[in-house]
Amino acid sequence: MLETLRYAQGDNNLDTVKIVEDNQPTVKNGKDFMSDFTHYKQEVVNTCHTLLERGYLKATEGNISTRVKGENAFAITPSSYDYAKMKVDDICILDYETKPIESKMKPSIESGMHAGAYQTRADVHAIIHTHQPYASALALIKMPIPALFDEQVRFLGRGVDIIPYAPSGTSFLKNAVKSKINNGNNAYILQNHGVLVFGGTIEQAIHNMALLEKCALTYLLALLTEKKISKIPFPIREIMFAKLREDEKKFSELN
Ligand SMILES: [Zn+2]
Repeated sequence: MLETLRYAQGDNNLDTVKIVEDNQPTVKNGKDFMSDFTHYKQEVVNTCHTLLERGYLKATEGNISTRVKGENAFAITPSSYDYAKMKVDDICILDYETKPIESKMKPSIESGMHAGAYQTRADVHAIIHTHQPYASALALIKMPIPALFDEQVRFLGRGVDIIPYAPSGTSFLKNAVKSKINNGNNAYILQNHGVLVFGGTIEQAIHNMALLEKCALTYLLALLTEKKISKIPFPIREIMFAKLREDEKKFSELN
Protein backbone atom coordinates (compact mmCIF):
# COMPACT_ATOMS: atom_id res chain seq x y z
CA MET A 1 0.00 0.00 0.00
CA LEU A 2 1.24 3.45 -0.80
CA GLU A 3 0.52 6.47 1.27
CA THR A 4 1.58 10.01 0.63
CA LEU A 5 2.96 12.57 2.97
CA ARG A 6 3.38 16.23 2.25
CA TYR A 7 6.23 18.07 3.83
CA ALA A 8 7.91 21.44 3.56
CA GLN A 9 11.33 21.44 1.91
CA GLY A 10 13.95 23.79 3.34
CA ASP A 11 13.20 26.40 0.67
CA ASN A 12 9.47 26.12 1.42
CA ASN A 13 8.53 24.17 -1.68
CA LEU A 14 6.02 21.44 -0.99
CA ASP A 15 6.83 18.02 -2.33
CA THR A 16 5.16 14.68 -2.15
CA VAL A 17 6.93 11.70 -0.64
CA LYS A 18 5.81 8.14 -1.26
CA ILE A 19 5.77 6.06 1.87
CA VAL A 20 6.42 2.42 1.03
CA GLU A 21 5.52 -0.12 3.67
CA ASP A 22 8.18 -2.54 4.88
CA ASN A 23 8.53 -5.70 2.80
CA GLN A 24 6.39 -4.22 0.03
CA PRO A 25 8.74 -3.67 -2.92
CA THR A 26 7.25 -1.22 -5.38
CA VAL A 27 6.80 -2.42 -8.94
CA LYS A 28 7.68 -0.06 -11.80
CA ASN A 29 7.49 -1.02 -15.46
CA GLY A 30 6.75 -4.60 -14.49
CA LYS A 31 9.94 -5.10 -12.48
CA ASP A 32 10.92 -4.84 -8.86
CA PHE A 33 13.02 -1.67 -8.89
CA MET A 34 13.60 -1.61 -5.16
CA SER A 35 16.40 -4.10 -5.66
CA ASP A 36 17.91 -1.86 -8.39
CA PHE A 37 18.66 0.78 -5.79
CA THR A 38 19.85 -1.45 -2.95
CA HIS A 39 23.48 -1.29 -4.05
CA TYR A 40 23.46 2.54 -4.00
CA LYS A 41 21.62 2.69 -0.68
CA GLN A 42 24.08 0.24 0.85
CA GLU A 43 27.01 2.39 -0.35
CA VAL A 44 25.52 5.42 1.38
CA VAL A 45 24.87 3.51 4.63
CA ASN A 46 28.40 2.07 4.64
CA THR A 47 29.83 5.55 4.09
CA CYS A 48 27.75 6.99 6.96
CA HIS A 49 29.11 4.34 9.32
CA THR A 50 32.70 4.78 8.09
CA LEU A 51 32.62 8.57 8.54
CA LEU A 52 30.93 8.25 11.93
CA GLU A 53 33.63 5.82 13.12
CA ARG A 54 36.37 8.13 11.86
CA GLY A 55 34.85 11.14 13.60
CA TYR A 56 33.93 13.18 10.52
CA LEU A 57 30.20 13.13 11.26
CA LYS A 58 28.52 14.06 14.50
CA ALA A 59 24.91 13.23 15.43
CA THR A 60 22.74 14.08 12.41
CA GLU A 61 24.79 16.80 10.71
CA GLY A 62 25.97 16.56 7.10
CA ASN A 63 24.64 14.41 4.27
CA ILE A 64 25.93 11.83 1.79
CA SER A 65 24.75 10.82 -1.67
CA THR A 66 25.71 8.67 -4.62
CA ARG A 67 24.56 8.90 -8.23
CA VAL A 68 22.36 6.12 -9.62
CA LYS A 69 23.93 5.35 -12.97
CA GLY A 70 21.70 5.74 -16.03
CA GLU A 71 18.66 6.80 -14.02
CA ASN A 72 18.87 10.62 -13.55
CA ALA A 73 18.58 9.82 -9.86
CA PHE A 74 20.64 9.67 -6.68
CA ALA A 75 20.59 7.99 -3.29
CA ILE A 76 20.80 10.38 -0.32
CA THR A 77 20.65 10.27 3.46
CA PRO A 78 17.38 11.25 5.17
CA SER A 79 16.96 14.52 7.08
CA SER A 80 17.96 14.72 10.76
CA TYR A 81 18.47 11.00 11.35
CA ASP A 82 21.10 9.40 13.58
CA TYR A 83 23.90 7.94 11.40
CA ALA A 84 24.49 5.16 13.92
CA LYS A 85 20.95 3.87 13.27
CA MET A 86 21.03 4.32 9.49
CA LYS A 87 19.81 1.30 7.50
CA VAL A 88 19.44 0.59 3.77
CA ASP A 89 15.68 1.24 3.86
CA ASP A 90 16.22 4.70 5.37
CA ILE A 91 18.07 5.99 2.30
CA CYS A 92 16.02 8.08 -0.15
CA ILE A 93 16.12 7.78 -3.94
CA LEU A 94 15.33 11.11 -5.65
CA ASP A 95 15.36 12.41 -9.19
CA TYR A 96 17.27 15.57 -10.13
CA GLU A 97 14.19 17.70 -9.41
CA THR A 98 14.40 16.18 -5.87
CA LYS A 99 11.11 14.37 -6.42
CA PRO A 100 11.10 11.08 -4.49
CA ILE A 101 11.35 7.89 -6.53
CA GLU A 102 11.63 5.64 -3.49
CA SER A 103 11.61 7.29 -0.09
CA LYS A 104 10.18 6.34 3.29
CA MET A 105 11.87 9.22 5.08
CA LYS A 106 12.07 12.96 4.51
CA PRO A 107 15.21 13.41 2.38
CA SER A 108 18.08 15.64 3.50
CA ILE A 109 17.26 19.35 3.24
CA GLU A 110 20.42 19.69 1.12
CA SER A 111 19.05 17.36 -1.58
CA GLY A 112 18.75 20.30 -3.99
CA MET A 113 22.44 21.12 -3.56
CA HIS A 114 23.38 17.49 -4.34
CA ALA A 115 21.04 17.38 -7.36
CA GLY A 116 22.49 20.63 -8.68
CA ALA A 117 26.02 19.25 -8.39
CA TYR A 118 25.14 16.02 -10.24
CA GLN A 119 23.49 18.03 -13.01
CA THR A 120 26.44 20.42 -13.30
CA ARG A 121 29.31 17.92 -13.04
CA ALA A 122 28.94 14.69 -15.05
CA ASP A 123 32.17 13.34 -13.51
CA VAL A 124 30.78 13.45 -9.96
CA HIS A 125 29.30 10.15 -8.77
CA ALA A 126 29.39 10.70 -5.01
CA ILE A 127 29.02 13.74 -2.75
CA ILE A 128 29.83 14.22 0.92
CA HIS A 129 28.77 17.30 2.87
CA THR A 130 30.08 17.61 6.43
CA HIS A 131 30.69 20.23 9.09
CA GLN A 132 34.19 18.85 9.78
CA PRO A 133 35.89 21.24 12.21
CA TYR A 134 39.22 22.27 10.64
CA ALA A 135 37.83 23.07 7.19
CA SER A 136 34.83 24.69 8.89
CA ALA A 137 37.23 26.99 10.77
CA LEU A 138 38.45 28.23 7.36
CA ALA A 139 34.76 28.69 6.45
CA LEU A 140 34.49 31.22 9.27
CA ILE A 141 37.45 33.31 8.16
CA LYS A 142 36.57 32.89 4.45
CA MET A 143 40.08 31.57 3.76
CA PRO A 144 40.43 29.48 0.59
CA ILE A 145 43.20 26.86 0.56
CA PRO A 146 45.83 27.49 -2.13
CA ALA A 147 47.85 24.71 -3.83
CA LEU A 148 49.90 23.56 -0.83
CA PHE A 149 50.64 19.88 -1.63
CA ASP A 150 51.01 17.77 -4.78
CA GLU A 151 48.44 15.20 -3.63
CA GLN A 152 46.01 17.98 -2.70
CA VAL A 153 45.92 19.25 -6.30
CA ARG A 154 45.96 15.71 -7.70
CA PHE A 155 42.69 14.83 -5.92
CA LEU A 156 41.03 18.09 -4.78
CA GLY A 157 41.96 20.48 -7.59
CA ARG A 158 43.95 23.69 -8.02
CA GLY A 159 42.64 25.14 -4.75
CA VAL A 160 39.78 24.85 -2.29
CA ASP A 161 37.50 27.82 -2.96
CA ILE A 162 34.98 29.45 -0.65
CA ILE A 163 31.37 29.30 -1.78
CA PRO A 164 29.63 32.46 -0.47
CA TYR A 165 27.14 32.07 2.36
CA ALA A 166 23.55 31.08 1.67
CA PRO A 167 21.13 29.58 4.20
CA SER A 168 21.09 25.78 4.53
CA GLY A 169 18.56 23.88 2.45
CA THR A 170 17.67 26.76 0.13
CA SER A 171 17.77 27.22 -3.62
CA PHE A 172 20.15 30.13 -2.90
CA LEU A 173 22.74 27.67 -1.61
CA LYS A 174 22.10 25.30 -4.52
CA ASN A 175 22.64 28.14 -7.00
CA ALA A 176 25.74 29.42 -5.19
CA VAL A 177 27.21 25.90 -5.43
CA LYS A 178 26.26 25.44 -9.10
CA SER A 179 27.90 28.73 -10.06
CA LYS A 180 31.26 27.71 -8.48
CA ILE A 181 31.81 24.05 -9.25
CA ASN A 182 32.47 24.18 -12.99
CA ASN A 183 36.21 24.67 -12.37
CA GLY A 184 36.75 20.91 -11.95
CA ASN A 185 37.83 21.03 -8.31
CA ASN A 186 36.61 18.30 -5.97
CA ALA A 187 36.45 20.16 -2.65
CA TYR A 188 34.81 23.42 -1.62
CA ILE A 189 34.28 25.28 1.64
CA LEU A 190 30.79 26.64 2.29
CA GLN A 191 31.12 29.96 4.11
CA ASN A 192 29.89 29.79 7.74
CA HIS A 193 28.69 26.24 7.18
CA GLY A 194 31.00 23.33 6.26
CA VAL A 195 32.40 21.54 3.22
CA LEU A 196 31.27 19.97 -0.02
CA VAL A 197 33.41 17.18 -1.46
CA PHE A 198 33.06 15.23 -4.71
CA GLY A 199 34.35 11.91 -5.97
CA GLY A 200 34.17 9.76 -9.07
CA THR A 201 33.39 6.93 -6.64
CA ILE A 202 32.18 6.92 -3.05
CA GLU A 203 35.59 5.64 -1.92
CA GLN A 204 37.25 8.57 -3.67
CA ALA A 205 34.83 11.02 -2.05
CA ILE A 206 35.74 9.61 1.39
CA HIS A 207 39.44 9.91 0.55
CA ASN A 208 38.98 13.48 -0.71
CA MET A 209 37.06 14.51 2.40
CA ALA A 210 39.82 13.18 4.68
CA LEU A 211 42.50 14.82 2.53
CA LEU A 212 40.65 18.14 2.74
CA GLU A 213 40.58 17.97 6.54
CA LYS A 214 44.32 17.21 6.67
CA CYS A 215 45.06 20.17 4.36
CA ALA A 216 42.79 22.47 6.38
CA LEU A 217 44.46 21.54 9.67
CA THR A 218 47.96 21.94 8.24
CA TYR A 219 47.08 25.27 6.66
CA LEU A 220 45.56 26.56 9.91
CA LEU A 221 48.71 25.58 11.82
CA ALA A 222 50.89 27.30 9.23
CA LEU A 223 48.72 30.44 9.35
CA LEU A 224 49.20 30.57 13.13
CA THR A 225 52.95 31.08 12.65
CA GLU A 226 52.20 34.28 10.67
CA LYS A 227 55.14 33.40 8.43
CA LYS A 228 55.01 33.32 4.63
CA ILE A 229 53.32 30.16 3.39
CA SER A 230 54.90 28.51 0.35
CA LYS A 231 52.86 26.90 -2.40
CA ILE A 232 53.87 24.15 -4.82
CA PRO A 233 55.49 25.37 -8.07
CA PHE A 234 53.03 26.45 -10.75
CA PRO A 235 54.13 23.83 -13.38
CA ILE A 236 53.73 21.00 -10.84
CA ARG A 237 50.30 22.31 -9.90
CA GLU A 238 49.25 22.22 -13.54
CA ILE A 239 50.65 18.70 -14.10
CA MET A 240 48.78 17.39 -11.05
CA PHE A 241 45.57 19.13 -12.05
CA ALA A 242 45.81 17.70 -15.58
CA LYS A 243 45.90 14.20 -14.03
CA LEU A 244 42.76 14.97 -12.05
CA ARG A 245 41.05 16.26 -15.21
CA GLU A 246 41.94 12.99 -16.97
CA ASP A 247 40.21 11.05 -14.19
CA GLU A 248 37.20 13.34 -14.41
CA LYS A 249 36.92 12.79 -18.15
CA LYS A 250 36.79 9.02 -17.59
CA PHE A 251 34.17 9.35 -14.85
CA SER A 252 32.08 11.65 -17.08
CA GLU A 253 31.81 8.87 -19.63
CA LEU A 254 30.28 6.44 -17.11
CA ASN A 255 26.86 8.12 -17.18
ZN1 LIG B 1 25.33 21.36 6.49
